[in-house]
Formats: sequence, structure tokens, C-alpha cells
Amino acid sequence: MAKHQFQTEVTQLLHLIIHSLYSHKEIFLREIVSNASDALDKLKYLTLTDEVMKNLKFDPRISISFDGKDSKTLSVSDTGIGMNEEDLVNHLGTIARSGTKSFLGKLSGDAKKDSNLIGQFGVGFYSSFMAADKVEVLTRKAGEDTAWLWTSDGKGDFDIAKAEKAEHGTTVTLFLNDEGKEFASQWRIESLIKKYSNHIAFPIFLSYEKKEYDDKGKEKASVPVTEQVNTASALWKRPKSELKDEDYSEFYKTISHDSDDPLFYIHTRAEGTMEYTTLFFVPKHAPFDLYNVDYKPGVKLYVKRVFITDDDKELMPSYLRFLRGVIDSEDLPLNVSREILQQNQVLSSIRSASVKKVLGEFQRIALEDKEKYTALVSEFNRPLKEGLYSDYANRDVLLELVRFKSTRVEGYTSLEEYKQRMLADQKAIYFITGDNEAKLRSSPLLEAYTKKDIEVLIMDDEIDEIVIPSVDKYKDVELKGVNRSDAGEDLEKDKKEKEKDKDISGVIKKIKKVLGDRVKDVKVSLRLAESPSCIVTDQSDPTFKMAAMLKAMGQKEMPEIKPILEINPDHQIVDKLKNMNDESFIEDISFLLLEQALLVEGVEIKDPAAFVKRLNRIMIKAV
Ligand code: ADP
Repeated sequence: MAKHQFQTEVTQLLHLIIHSLYSHKEIFLREIVSNASDALDKLKYLTLTDEVMKNLKFDPRISISFDGKDSKTLSVSDTGIGMNEEDLVNHLGTIARSGTKSFLGKLSGDAKKDSNLIGQFGVGFYSSFMAADKVEVLTRKAGEDTAWLWTSDGKGDFDIAKAEKAEHGTTVTLFLNDEGKEFASQWRIESLIKKYSNHIAFPIFLSYEKKEYDDKGKEKASVPVTEQVNTASALWKRPKSELKDEDYSEFYKTISHDSDDPLFYIHTRAEGTMEYTTLFFVPKHAPFDLYNVDYKPGVKLYVKRVFITDDDKELMPSYLRFLRGVIDSEDLPLNVSREILQQNQVLSSIRSASVKKVLGEFQRIALEDKEKYTALVSEFNRPLKEGLYSDYANRDVLLELVRFKSTRVEGYTSLEEYKQRMLADQKAIYFITGDNEAKLRSSPLLEAYTKKDIEVLIMDDEIDEIVIPSVDKYKDVELKGVNRSDAGEDLEKDKKEKEKDKDISGVIKKIKKVLGDRVKDVKVSLRLAESPSCIVTDQSDPTFKMAAMLKAMGQKEMPEIKPILEINPDHQIVDKLKNMNDESFIEDISFLLLEQALLVEGVEIKDPAAFVKRLNRIMIKAV
């Protein structure tokens, strides 16, 4: 017998599960049954594809039995793939899923809040310790001779010992604790299976002692019976008319580990040149690993109801990685290997049809059910934006689906709504990018737009900076960043007038001389109303934010971006500069005009000490 320590994360998770999920402890049965079903799926696939496994006797089934009398145990057995010693150590002693550490770090210690989070994380096998003070796993891997017994009280370590088991597969036995005793009951188990696992595609049998009574109602005998307790038909293959929302919800929970209902589902059957069924769910909340590079894909592939894989990131484009569900094809060969899937024509047709279907459905909801759509974008706006640059074929629909904040409306707006609100002579859709909404809303760059009543989209999502420049146009209207040198089109008319009555070319010359090659240019600004100056970037340069992001991503050879300094011709300071000849004073003011504009844009200034000195010199003059 060998003793092993649980990985620290497992111990943490166990502690958490027990303290935050105790009011939902019944879900352990769903988790164990769904593991059994996965194990059957995996073996079924092997019996169809693996030369050796083809000869294996495979009778897929899940059996549940319990001892309600003295020992109070509950066992769930499957005839699935089973585990060897190494599997046991790797799967029932560690958490392989990426992002576990950061997930655990997010927990607050407040049981109520944490139970929501943990619901999305998917607690799996470890939830059995909510109902048991000891768990045994007796298992034999298909194709191997040795069986193993894994035992633990869930308190930090587990044992693994050699054991005997006639058939391949796994039996999980729970030694129920005081709170778990209620589960040693035929009625309780049956209702839980109906609630959570009815649509598991394999038969689930429950064995119990059936009592028989005589005419007078006295107990005569008790006979052991075994009954199938689930419908065992793949839910997605059943006609929609037969299925209720609750059926979809429960199925969603078994495949997603989410404890919440889905936001909505999309169930499609395609017939004709290609035959397949898809069932997709949009979760209410973003999966915890949505932004991990090695996220776990949520769509499972079946061929004629045989599970093929749940680990293929190519089944759906990565920007739709938040979807959960099933693709079941009638046209793929059953023994299709996972490697071949990548280049498979049938699959890529299903994929592109599914993406169209899903996006089309999103569009319908956006039009017909605003509240639901708001719930969707508040969680998944960002992945949808990723689609703008990764899925060119669907860009037009995606442009209808993404949402932005705006200077005009509360909450989110679509580009279409913006377009409808555009002023009669407005030439472009304007936006400002940055990482802080409040800062953006008070940016001097917006002043002239606000004054002219032109709406500007507030893009404070990191991804906007990357995605939006690649989107030239919405329909036939150009998108323009207000911090770019060419965004002044609609302000152009003013320019002529301004240049006419206020000639500040002298001031500009003076400032240029002082700042030299610290700036790309110094210009009269059209976009300022109250601030004396602002910086913009040349339309051919990356923005400051973008440059910072590229640097953070490891790009070394970044040419220095020089700002264009714009000067407000109507500002008092600028006016005063006209007749000023004190060179050192002009120098200080010129630098301060640049530095304050940089600060407002959130760009670091090179020499803060010099900046403070200048500021103090000017303050002395003022007091
Ligand atoms: P998850 O199911 O989310 O992966 P679990 O903690 O429930 O997480 O299970 C961990 C792993 O243990 C599974 O991925 C699987 O590899 C293995 N496992 C659990 N139960 C069984 C079983 N009945 N048969 C075979 N393997 C199992």
C-alpha cells in the first residue's frame, strides 16, 4: 500500500467544497455519474478505433447500489475505461486543469459568493466528500490485468493498493457521513438521477430491496430488484417538441458542471446533403478559464451518438469558446481518429454552418430580447470582439453583435444604433480608446466633439485597441479614433475660420523650436474647447496604448512613438504666448503644454523631476 499526499490545490478545493456547497451536497451524485458516463464514452470510442480493444467485451452500463441498513454505503459502478495506478495518482490526487491556482485565488472566503464561483469551476469527484467521510475507488483499466483500490478520507492524503476486480471499469463507494445518510434510499437516488442524469446516454440501473406485503399489509419478504432509472437516450437526438426547458437545463448542467441554468440554448437538426445535430448552450456566466490560453473546450463531438472527443479546440472557433454543447454527425466515419478531424471536410462544413447558426441566433435575440442580449454581451462581448479579427467571413454579423460604451447613451450601444444617431453631415464613427472609462470620458480630446454634439464611442476594453483599427468601416461609414491625427474631418469647417481670425503660427513656431524632436509636429487643434493642449498620434503610428501592449507582449524593437502636440488657439495661455519674448518662460510653458497632455493620456513623462521644477517656477511667477 502506498500513501500519497493530495496536491495543495486539491486540499484547498476540498476544504472549500465542504464549506461552500454543503447546501447543494446532492450534486455529488451527478458528478460521479457523469464521470462514469465519460469513462464509458472513452471506452466505447476505443472499442471502435483500437485494434486491441475491438475484441473487448463491452457492456456499457452504470449501476448504483446502496446499503441502507448498517454501514450506510452508496456505490456507483461503471464498465468504462477504468484507471491504472498512474491514472489514479494523476486524476484523483491532483487537479490538472489550468487556471486552478488563479481560480482559488479569486475566492473570497465568503461561502455564499464562493459557492457561485465554484459552481462554474466544476467540482467533480471531490464533491463526494460532502456526503462521505471515506471514499473508495476500486478500478481496473480496460486491457490491463491489475486492479487498484484508492482510499481516502479527504483530509490530505490517500492510499493506493493492489486489489482484485473481475471486470474492467470503476466502482466508487461512499461511506456516507451523518449528512449523507439520506442518500442511502431508493426514492432519493431515483429522484436525483431523474433530475440530474436522466439524459446520460447509457443505462443507469438501481438495485434495491423491494418489500413485499401480505393481504393484511404486513411485510412478507424483501426481494432484491434491479431497475433502469433513466431514459438513456441522447437528449440532443430527441425531437424538440418532446423536450422542456427543464430538460435542456439539466442536460446542460451534466455537461458543463455549471450549477446555474444556461442563458439559452440552440438546438438544430440538419438534414439533406449533410446530416447532423447540434445543441449549443450559452452559459449565464463566463467559464472561469475563458481567458486562459489552455481553456477547456466546451463542445463535445459525437458520431452517430458515439462520443469521439471533448478536447478538440477546432470544433468551434476560439472566440466562441464559451459555448457548451454537442455536435453529433451522421456522416463522419465512426473510427475517425482525433488527428484526422482537423482536416476533415464534413467537420469544417458543420463548423461553419454552426457558427452561422449561432451568430444568427445571437442577432435574433439582440433584436427581440434586449434584456437577454445585454446579459450575453456583459459576459461575452470581448470574445465576440476577438471574432472581428479572427473570423473575417463573419465580420459583418459580428459587427452587428459587438457593443460599446458611448458618450451619448447609458450602458451599451451597437454600431447600427450609433449610425442612426449620427448627425446629418457627420462623416465618421468616432471612438476613443484607453483603459479607464472615467479618464476617457473626461479626455480633452472629446471637448470639441461634445461641443458639436458628435457622439464618441468609449472603448475601454483592452482588446478594442487591437481589434478596432482592423475594422475600417461599419457599412459604408469609416471608424476613426479621436486620438489620431486625421480624426478632425467633421471639425474641419471650423479650422478655416479659426486660422483666419487667429493666427497662431508664431506661437507654434516658438513651441516647435523648444520641443524639437521630442514631438513629431505641433499643430493648431480643432478638437479642444477647454484644455490648452492635447497629444494625438500620427495615423500611421501605433497608439501609445498599443505600443505599451506590444512591449508587454515581448516585442523588443519598438520604434519610439512621437506624439503630435495640438494647441488650442482659443486658450488664454496660447493667447499670452503670442506676445511673449522671455525665452526661458516660453520654454517652461512649451514643455508644460506637452507634459500635461501626456499625463492626461496616461503616458509616462520622461523626467518627472524636471517637470516639477518647471511647474514650481511657473507657480512662483503666479503667486
Ligand atoms: P473532471 O471530471 O472534471 O475531469 P473529476 O475530479 O470529477 O474532474 O475527475 C477527475 C478525473 O478522474 C477524470 O477526468 C477522469 O480522468 C478520472 N475519473 C473520475 N472518475 C472516473 C471513472 N469512473 N472512470 C474512469 N476515470 C475516472
